[in-house]
Amino acid sequence: ASVTRFAEHERGVTVFAKSGDGTERAIECNNVIGCDGPRSTVRRALGVGGVATYVTLQDFCAIEGPIEPYFDCIYLRDIGDSFAYAYVVPKGDVAIVGSVFYPKTTRPYEKHEQALTALRQRLPLGKSSKREAWVALSVRSPHDVVPGRGRVLLAGEAGGFMSPTSGEGISYALNTGMLAGTAVAEGAPDGALARYTDKTAHIHANINRKLKWLPFMESRAGKYLAGFVPAPLVSRVTKGL
Ligand SMILES: Cc1cc2nc3c(=O)[nH]c(=O)nc-3n(C[C@H](O)[C@H](O)[C@H](O)COP(=O)(O)OP(=O)(O)OC[C@H]3O[C@@H](n4cnc5c(N)ncnc54)[C@H](O)[C@@H]3O)c2cc1C
Repeated sequence: ASVTRFAEHERGVTVFAKSGDGTERAIECNNVIGCDGPRSTVRRALGVGGVATYVTLQDFCAIEGPIEPYFDCIYLRDIGDSFAYAYVVPKGDVAIVGSVFYPKTTRPYEKHEQALTALRQRLPLGKSSKREAWVALSVRSPHDVVPGRGRVLLAGEAGGFMSPTSGEGISYALNTGMLAGTAVAEGAPDGALARYTDKTAHIHANINRKLKWLPFMESRAGKYLAGFVPAPLVSRVTKGL
């Protein structure tokens, strides 16, 4: 079932969920944990401000020779400022080749083709058998991180919990999901948000610290520097990011 809306009242929260056959049912809850990802319906309904999203496109390309994984990021100079980075993740006999674009990029499919062409010139990548498109949070400000409001808690990307520098969000989602569950289970429903806010303060601080690095990492100077400095040194400096 898909959550369509909810209503907070004195006794808790009523959540409305729609099943595949179109029927809607109401569920009474003491608390709600919104963990519905980068396009969170719950966050939108709370009215606590949205977060911009990167567009990601990835192709499953045949591998035609020995290939190194590039999990981190590949900067390409000729695609324009809307292109953030690419990645190449070999998996069996295909490599997942992705492009990440800044919010509001126009014609990302065209630009992704350009990135694929540039990467095919340097790496043994063959034809694509499948393409996927999705979005990822673009956390830009400490205010993007919102633990919730009232009886509703937000975990994972719905709450803005994600590394702004590396784009990693799985550990943030797992940790905040666990902390939200614990905060709800530990005491009165009215105090769940305060407990959760306390428990996630160190994660919020970790995101704030990473945000300070973001302007430099995204600047032309930062990208050029990363291209000249030996990769092991770049890896060492950016390890905690
Ligand atoms: C291309 C790409 C590559 C990535 N690579 C990495 C990586 O290498 N390492 C890493 O750590 N992170 C990576 N991430 C980020 C990571 O995938 C996310 O940060 C993480 O999955 C967020 O978890 P989440 O539970 O908050 O949201 P999601 O994983 O998006 O889960 C949300 C769930 O809520 C469901 N849902 C949505 N709306 C509703 C609704 N109205 N009602 C009911 N259910 C709903 C969705 O179907 C989904 O199952 C990547 C992201 C992308 C897009």
